[in-house]
Amino acid sequence: MRLSQMLFVTLRDDPADAEIPSHKLLLRAGYIRRIGSGIYAYLPFMWRVLQKVSQIVREEMNATGAQECLLPQLQPSELWKESGRWDTYTKAEGIMFSLIDRREQQLGLGPTHEEVITTVARDMIRSYRQLPLHLYQIQTKFRDEIRPRFGLMRGREFIMKDGYSFHVDEESLKKTYQDMYQAYSNMLRRSGLAFRAVEADSGAIGGSGSTEFMVLADAGEDEVLYTEDGKYAANVEKAISLPADAETSPFTTFEKRETPGTDTIEKVCAFLQCSPTKIVKNVLYQTVYDNGLTVLVLVNIRGDQEVNDVKLQNELTKLAEKFGAKTILSLSVPTNEIIATWAAKSLPLGYIAPDLGDDYIAGSKQVNSKFVRLVDKTAVELKNFVTGANESNFHVVGANWGEQFKLPDIVVDIRKAKAGDRSLHDPNQTLQTARGIEVGHIFQLGTKYSQAMNATYTSEQGEEKPLVMGCYGVGVSRLAQSAVEQSYDKDGIIWPVAIAPYHAIISIPNVNDTQQVEIAEKIYTELNKAGVETLLDDRNERAGVKFKDADLIGIPFRIVTGRAIANGKVEVVKRANRESQEIAIDEVVNILQQWIKEAVEG
Ligand code: ATP
Ligand code: MG
Repeated sequence: MRLSQMLFVTLRDDPADAEIPSHKLLLRAGYIRRIGSGIYAYLPFMWRVLQKVSQIVREEMNATGAQECLLPQLQPSELWKESGRWDTYTKAEGIMFSLIDRREQQLGLGPTHEEVITTVARDMIRSYRQLPLHLYQIQTKFRDEIRPRFGLMRGREFIMKDGYSFHVDEESLKKTYQDMYQAYSNMLRRSGLAFRAVEADSGAIGGSGSTEFMVLADAGEDEVLYTEDGKYAANVEKAISLPADAETSPFTTFEKRETPGTDTIEKVCAFLQCSPTKIVKNVLYQTVYDNGLTVLVLVNIRGDQEVNDVKLQNELTKLAEKFGAKTILSLSVPTNEIIATWAAKSLPLGYIAPDLGDDYIAGSKQVNSKFVRLVDKTAVELKNFVTGANESNFHVVGANWGEQFKLPDIVVDIRKAKAGDRSLHDPNQTLQTARGIEVGHIFQLGTKYSQAMNATYTSEQGEEKPLVMGCYGVGVSRLAQSAVEQSYDKDGIIWPVAIAPYHAIISIPNVNDTQQVEIAEKIYTELNKAGVETLLDDRNERAGVKFKDADLIGIPFRIVTGRAIANGKVEVVKRANRESQEIAIDEVVNILQQWIKEAVEG
């Protein structure tokens, strides 16, 4: 392609609304254009990158025996009502765009396709003989994200590969899951990315596990905890660890003490001169179930520990049935204004004890009249601990479970693992932290959707059984931008060769020099013929401008038909390390082919 004939517009300055380097660079280099919040046009360079990523994804998926298809983006609401997700997706989470057609039928714009694929499977899979089966598609997804940001990283319209597999049993599912683990690792390696596969939260359904594929970059929205021996890596939402040992308590007898102005753990520790590991902290949460019921939750946890909200949410989801609900709509630490909507009297905030009475709640149809009381394992083990006295400016010391306080029935593990904690598999290993961008997620679904939607097959023994399912997603557009986030310098993008929009760019320093032009044209034709995807910068611009633009758009190899042509050579510059060399004109094609081969296969 000739730059003179392209829509080629680069910006000198960083666009004001872009926060992270990859977003700035893709805008500046003319890869994408913002059309609305979380909505982007993929311009020709970007589209080439996306097609390359898609092709790598497709090849790796096909190699596992999965088959490509294309499912509708317009999805009838009935399907989502069957699975029980319509209200959560359109109202509670509100992530799904929905609309009403001229026949007054409700439709959703596909944020994901479990419902559609399960319907297809229900209609078409009859027998165990048709299993296992794996279908995938590469398609635009729609999600009304609360905070679209960082360009393609979190868009409201983005490209995803999503695949769904069907099995007779868990064992068969596990095999496909393993194949996917390998295929995903291959995709990311081939795309030139540094990544880590991590254990991920699979929500309250638990399933038999899920793995996220994280591209390592400081701008990542996720935190990954891992050990240096390579044996453990998990999303912080899911991570487990050994807490630090608790210190021995300086208090041996139970007493109520006046502790003025100590409404935080820090302040009470300073006042009582004790370690936070001797405190039972009582954290108040508020959750709303999908039947509209608000439930207040009191969590007891050791003073030096934090609650992991995702783990807490999973525990509370397990209790949904008890409250006549299916799932949770929201979970938060209530503000004073919110507390005022259900409190029967003023709460001793900052001084709450584990036995805070249920009479603080003015129960109603909408508000459960009792606290759900959960105790984290770290708090269970404490002896002679310090905790609130249910009275402002007072604490109790030397308290014990089974004496002054009844241990809550529900013991849970909901503490947040953090960097520096000892690892469970080997306490000599401490957890390290890294930021990651989630580009892929593979998930053992089990029978959640097949049961809800009655998708069954007949087993070898003639029994009718629900299909066992897995699902596997890759954010194609997010992956493409992550590559930039991981590889750039002050001058611009440095594309990994495998997903660069073009392999090479020929810059003609002076378009009025016929010899320079002739040689450039000749190499341009030969390279493209030889499969080296090449751009020709034939614009009537200064050489400096051309070099700057070539650096900005990040094409791996730049060929300059400048002074060296007097000796039958051209200058070739590698974008990644700026290494420059003069190469004989008739060797350029071979050498570039070789370099590209090495980079793509290496
Ligand atoms: P996240 O936790 O980042 O919101 P998710 O868990 O909702 O993502 P999945 O439903 O597992 O994502 O979707 C599969 C993949 O699609 C993700 O791993 C991610 O790479 C990509 N993806 C999800 N949401 C977006 C988005 N808004 N913009 C771009 N890519 C996305
Ligand atoms: Mg996810």
